[in-house]
Amino acid sequence: MLIAGNWKMYKTASDAADFCRALKARLAGLDGVDVAVCPPYPALAAAVQVLADSDVAVAAQNVHWESDGAFTGEVSASMLRDLGVYGAIVGHSERRQHFGETDETVARRVAAALEAGLWVIACVGELEQERGAGETEEVLRRQVSVLEAHDQLVIAYEPVWAIGTGKTATPEIAEEAHALIKSIVDVPVLYGGSVKPDNATELLGQPNVDGALVGGASLEVESFAAICEAAATL
Ligand code: PEP
Repeated sequence: MLIAGNWKMYKTASDAADFCRALKARLAGLDGVDVAVCPPYPALAAAVQVLADSDVAVAAQNVHWESDGAFTGEVSASMLRDLGVYGAIVGHSERRQHFGETDETVARRVAAALEAGLWVIACVGELEQERGAGETEEVLRRQVSVLEAHDQLVIAYEPVWAIGTGKTATPEIAEEAHALIKSIVDVPVLYGGSVKPDNATELLGQPNVDGALVGGASLEVESFAAICEAAATL
C-alpha cells in the first residue's frame, strides 16, 4: 500500500522543511504502508534533506524525457536522482489540461524516468463528460495502453471530476476502473480524487486499490497522517 501526497503548487522550501519534520515525527514507527511526498521543484532538496533519516520518500511532480538539453523550464530524471529524489508523478490531469500533456508525451516521460531509475506514478482518468457519455473504458484503455509494465511503475486512477472537487468516486467505481487498468497493464493502481481521512478506509479497502494519490488532504500533517494510518491498518 502506497500513500503519496501531491502538493501541487503549494509550499515553499521552508514550509516543506517544517511540514516534513512534523510528518516524520508523526509517522515514526508506523509500519505497513509506504509513504511519499511530492513537493514542487524548489522544495525538493529541503524535503529530501529532512526526510533522509526516515522511511518517507520524496518524488517530483513531473520529469522530462531528455537527460539535458535546450528545454527551458523542464527538469530531467538525472537531475532529480542527483538531488536524492526517488520518483516522479507523470501525466497528472492538471498537466494534461493546462500544459498540453498528451498520451504520447506521458509515455516518453514515463519511459525515460524508469530508464533513469526513478519510480513513476503515471496518472490516468476520465473527464466528467467522458463518464457521462459512457466513454470511461475507452479513455482509460487509450491512456493506459501507452504504458508498459515495469517493477518501478505505479498507475494512479484519478477521475478528473473527483480531483479537488470533494466528489469522490464510489468504492465500486474505483474498483471497476482499477480492475480494468490492471487487465491492461498489471501494476499497482492508486486511487486519487478527494481522498480524505473519512473516506480513505472504504476506498483503500477495495481489492484492486493499492494506495492513494492525495492532493488537498496531503497539505496538512494531520489529515495526511490519518490517511497513512488508515492504510497501515488494512
Ligand atoms: C491530486 O492532485 O492528484 C488529487 C487527487 O487531488 P485531491 O485529493 O485534492 O482531489
